[in-house]
Amino acid sequence: MKRVILKLSGEALAGEQKSGYDDALIADIARQVKAIIDKGIDVGVVIGGGNYWRGRSNDNIDRTKADQIGMLATIMNCIYVSEIFRSEGLKTNILTPFECGSMTKLFSKDRANKYFEKGMVVFFAGGTGHPYFSTDTGIVLRAIELDADAILLAKAIDGIYDSDPKINPQAKKYDKISIQEVVDKQLGVIDMTASVMCMENKMPLMVFGLNEDNSILNAMTGKFNGTVVTV
Ligand code: UDP
Repeated sequence: MKRVILKLSGEALAGEQKSGYDDALIADIARQVKAIIDKGIDVGVVIGGGNYWRGRSNDNIDRTKADQIGMLATIMNCIYVSEIFRSEGLKTNILTPFECGSMTKLFSKDRANKYFEKGMVVFFAGGTGHPYFSTDTGIVLRAIELDADAILLAKAIDGIYDSDPKINPQAKKYDKISIQEVVDKQLGVIDMTASVMCMENKMPLMVFGLNEDNSILNAMTGKFNGTVVTV
């Protein structure tokens, strides 16, 4: 692989605390990302917003406004995680689909490629920039546009199951599954819009638990305990 885009869910980033940030966990992610970059592989990062805000779950305010808050939450997450990455010796830059003054730079494919060439970790913050989408759709869009080889989905759960293991103790984990099956069975590992985009554009996914030792590195090297989604 030459280029991967890593998705960290906001929830997984918060670790045991369920909100805010687990700094030790983020420093460990930085160490793993550095090891990947040192092998000459480009790493982009997309972060969700679930540790701050879940736009869609709040019925009291307009959906568009709730989603705007959600997009801003993903930017705050990227600023925080980017700083920890820098303190761990990585070079970083944050791109957003809309202007945020001097806090981030406006996304373009050329700009992202320029930063990748400089060995930087590129954070894609603010999702797609549009309400009614998710960071799942955002990551698939960036991965396709930037010709990534795969999406690495680091989650609070260690792979894709045939039903929710929190509800069904007999739930079975898939080692491998096709994206067609993910769509047909509505497995919900990423939302439906994002799944269909992966299917149409042949973008494979590796799904694994963020809290397992070296899980990001293992996903890259094949020593992998999660689920591979084939296209
Ligand atoms: N969001 C949005 N458009 C996008 C990306 C994100 O409106 O293109 C909003 C949406 O409200 C979402 C929130 O940002 O609930 C946080 O993103 P997401 O739910 O994907 O985060 P995660 O669940 O992965 O932490």
